[in-house]
Amino acid sequence: MTNRQLFLQHVAQTSDFPLMLEIEKAEGVYLYGTKGEKYIDLISGIGVSNVGHRHPKVVKAIKDQVDKYLHLMVYGEYVQSPQVLLAQKLVSLLPSSLSSVFFTNSGSEAIEGAMKLAKRFTARHKIISCFDAYHGSTQGALSIGGNEKLKQNFRPLLPSTERIRFGAAIDLERIDRYTAAVVVETVQGEAGVKVASTEYFQQLRKRCDETGTLLLLDEIQCGFGRTGKFWAFEHYGIVPDILVCAKGMGGGMPLGAFISSSEIMAVLRKNPILGHITTFGGHPVCCAASLATIEVIQEEKLIEQVEEKERLFFSKLQHPKIKEVRSQGLMMALEFENFETLKPIIDKAISNGVITDWFLFCDNSMRIAPPLTITKDEIEKASKVILEAIEIS
Ligand code: PMP
Repeated sequence: MTNRQLFLQHVAQTSDFPLMLEIEKAEGVYLYGTKGEKYIDLISGIGVSNVGHRHPKVVKAIKDQVDKYLHLMVYGEYVQSPQVLLAQKLVSLLPSSLSSVFFTNSGSEAIEGAMKLAKRFTARHKIISCFDAYHGSTQGALSIGGNEKLKQNFRPLLPSTERIRFGAAIDLERIDRYTAAVVVETVQGEAGVKVASTEYFQQLRKRCDETGTLLLLDEIQCGFGRTGKFWAFEHYGIVPDILVCAKGMGGGMPLGAFISSSEIMAVLRKNPILGHITTFGGHPVCCAASLATIEVIQEEKLIEQVEEKERLFFSKLQHPKIKEVRSQGLMMALEFENFETLKPIIDKAISNGVITDWFLFCDNSMRIAPPLTITKDEIEKASKVILEAIEIS
């Protein structure tokens, strides 16, 4: 049997139409197929490969750590220098109130820990989140997800969760003194790149302060330079009480974190002791990869180039069939009439060597979120392929 047949037979499937690309090697913005195909990756494995695939510095950091030690002990017991150095680096990139980092294996798991932290710290149980939000697929994260279709056949989920409209200031009144946390993606990803105003975020922050509610920002997709700032919340002049990150954080390795103040994080130590624990969270190899990833972002001045690259995409991707372009940095969505218009365009672009897709909750829009390392030349080439795909579809 071929790998493709075995994949369909033995690797659990999550849909009836997987993309089925078989990749042999990945490097920078390129993926290489087993039959000699070469693709420009415009989706970064869904917001992961911000520094490109297999960045040499990230690969070296991984190899160096592999030669020292792998897993030693469950999280939080031994002093492991990759974790310590990464926590120190992350904290140096954050306002002083965000000084304590809890490492996890994934985004969903970081959201789970952050929700527990908010409930435990505030001694409240209600959690408010937004319609069309995606925070992960585990049961707590799913409970606060904003798409009914994904949830309906998995009930009962967590009680005491409510949804408000992202960007609608009037809904902020629903945040009250029973609310433990408001969980918001700073830029909504799977809704198809939805951006809210600075005024909205400032009102959100104010309402949380008035009611003693913790503001939990999910930057799993929009963090790590994706939007043109290291953290997306920097666009809005606010500071969350809990920040959640993952995806781009590991430079291609699985890693997540929730980050808060030492005061808030301290509640996980008592009543009960070991209030949140994990075996593999903050794996030393992943932390070493993450530290190298941050160094690459800084040394190669990737964030400084985001706006110019965003503008170049904008100027190239002009076509009457593109109804709207929504973006925050290199997190972009091109809106078409409907999925039936978009799907053949995506298929054509992929067969011509450019990988894009659509969004979980927005199937009329094309996702463009390339590695931040993409060059102007590569942007021009990829845009040309997309325009040709639009023309002939
Ligand atoms: N939050 C957001 C904003 C995400 O985009 C994702 C992943 N798409 C998650 C949470 C869940 O992360 P993971 O898949 O690592 O569990």
